Amino acid sequence: MKLQLSLIASALLLAGTAQSATLIYAGKLITADSDKVLTQQTVVVENDKIIAVEPGYKTPAPADQVIDLKTHTLMPGLMDMHTHFSSQMGPGSYTEDFLLNEADVALRGATFAEKTLMAGFTTVRELGDTHHTSTALRKAIHAGYVKGPRIYTAGKSIATTGGHADPTNGVAYALMGDPGPKEGVINGPDDARKAVRQRYKEGADLIKITATGGVLSVAKSGSNPQFNSEELKAIVETAKDYGMTVAVHAHGKEGMDRAIEAGVDSIEHGTLMDKATMKLMKKHGTYYVPTISAGKWAAEKAAMPGFFPELVRPKALAIGPKIQQTFAEAYKEGVKIAFGTDSGVGAHGDNWREFVFMTEAGMPALQAIQSATIVSARLLKVDQELGSVTAGKIADLVAVPGDPLQDIQLMGKVSFVMKAGVVYKQ
Ligand SMILES: [Zn+2]
Repeated sequence: MKLQLSLIASALLLAGTAQSATLIYAGKLITADSDKVLTQQTVVVENDKIIAVEPGYKTPAPADQVIDLKTHTLMPGLMDMHTHFSSQMGPGSYTEDFLLNEADVALRGATFAEKTLMAGFTTVRELGDTHHTSTALRKAIHAGYVKGPRIYTAGKSIATTGGHADPTNGVAYALMGDPGPKEGVINGPDDARKAVRQRYKEGADLIKITATGGVLSVAKSGSNPQFNSEELKAIVETAKDYGMTVAVHAHGKEGMDRAIEAGVDSIEHGTLMDKATMKLMKKHGTYYVPTISAGKWAAEKAAMPGFFPELVRPKALAIGPKIQQTFAEAYKEGVKIAFGTDSGVGAHGDNWREFVFMTEAGMPALQAIQSATIVSARLLKVDQELGSVTAGKIADLVAVPGDPLQDIQLMGKVSFVMKAGVVYKQ
């Protein structure tokens, strides 16, 4: 009895002093910061950090916890550079603004965030919301009220009058009003600066603009340029002053070229870019975020009568199917590609399908995974803390059974999710 008590006492003493670690045994390990895949590794996690990556299966100390993923492939937490938690498109999407309150949108967004995390996406870039949902979600996730990925948000997208992200497009004239920079609609460089500063004030991490027409807005053109160069320059300069990057929705070449010349950080969709645009992107170091998933989804739904308004349907049919081919050419040309789905157009939680589309179009599976990890971390400028399985980085780790480099469909079977050292799925 005496001996037992002293054993308990010393165990308690140990627990109070020694740091207990989590040892993750990885059958295969994609670190993402190299082109090699390692086998039989131990990733050591303490609190929210990876403290070591060691060959072999390390023997645990008495207080250590072991997570056995010997039959799995472990990789960095996945990152989606283009999501929208404030919506998920369906036939009712065009009228829901009149039916839903802000709280409805926020609570629905919370379930989308959780689905995304459980699919293995531990970080997202929210590229345009309504009702400030994504800043509220970012806060709620950080505080632990809601389960979801780490969010970097643009808040409300910035458009020009009648442009792709003008929130009153297509409604009755009596309801159109005249939204301004506060609501994310600008005309001229002064408005542009004000809109960026307003996003900063509201807590956005970056800026999103809609440089050309878009597919799903109730407006005629899906590709015309919608910002002039002066406005673009004002956006980029002001964003830089506030330490923010600029993400640009663009389908048409002219609007895209102007935005790249102005020094934006990423082109989203990029559907009608040509070789010259790709060269321009390489020259300026601009990232391409393809969102093949959204293009395929829009084209598929456009074939269903009544799914989209008649003004939208032909745009979806013309632009949707082209993105995968554009991606294939941009990849061959050597443009930097960061992973993005535009989830919220398609269903949240289906983000992994983008991996299938990318590999179909010629990108090797390992590079597709790198685009969703280390490359996306570089675009977010957080590659010192995230994006690879490296000692010293934040412990965002996910695993799939088997080997996704042999069968990319396995990216849809994420069975282990750790974000900042906390296990959310096992
Ligand atoms: Zn989008």
